[in-house]
Amino acid sequence: MNDPNTTRRDEIAAGLAEVERRIAAACEAAGRARHEITLVAVTKTYPASDVRILAALGIGDVGENRDQEAAVKASECADLPLTWHFVGQIQTNKAKSVVSYADVVHSVDRPRLVEALAREAVRAGRQVTCLVQVALDDDPGRGGVVPDGLPALAELIAKSEGLVLGGVMAVAPLGGDADRAFARLWQLSSALQVEHPNARVISAGMSGDLRQAIAHGSTHLRVGTALLGCRKPFVR
Ligand SMILES: *Cc1c(COP(=O)(O)O)cnc(C)c1O
Repeated sequence: MNDPNTTRRDEIAAGLAEVERRIAAACEAAGRARHEITLVAVTKTYPASDVRILAALGIGDVGENRDQEAAVKASECADLPLTWHFVGQIQTNKAKSVVSYADVVHSVDRPRLVEALAREAVRAGRQVTCLVQVALDDDPGRGGVVPDGLPALAELIAKSEGLVLGGVMAVAPLGGDADRAFARLWQLSSALQVEHPNARVISAGMSGDLRQAIAHGSTHLRVGTALLGCRKPFVR
């Protein structure tokens, strides 16, 4: 036990086992199969060494929410076979950097961002999957397009070279009813799939509400705390 990472590995393995237990129970309750759901490990504020441990434990998808931090971590982990998800709000001038490592952007919420991501994806010769983030409450501070704006933004992504429309993403309202929010997201996704049958991703569910998300059709869970522990408050 001379390797300090042994204990960290044990901690993360225990977190992962518990998350998998909760996912299995939620799938069972919802009559869904585990393979319908991708677990995205949200590694923000945690070091690249934790990403390596997660990868060794079988995690293939990691998520980050700040470009500066994500860009460094992704390059430190470039040797690992990982899919990188960007889940945070993006300033348009960060599109070039985000496109250089992100395979999936979950937080697309305005036409100017679509245009910037498309331009940089084409320039970099990359295909970036984009999810439309939908605001399920009236708090615009958390990002997301209002539900009425979803069809037009989705259409813009679908016709943009360099981008692939993957589906939708949402964060349940703080202190709100997660069941109601995720039921609404499922409805919006169903309507979207009439026009865009391949846009099947529903990115919903975090450490605290993954059960409700799975009950309402989530395909991608974004889980941080339950895998890696409580984050230190972010100091600006
Ligand atoms: C941090 C974050 C998560 C993970 O949240 P936890 O509660 O730690 O599981 C999920 N989605 C987004 C958009 C995040 O910023």
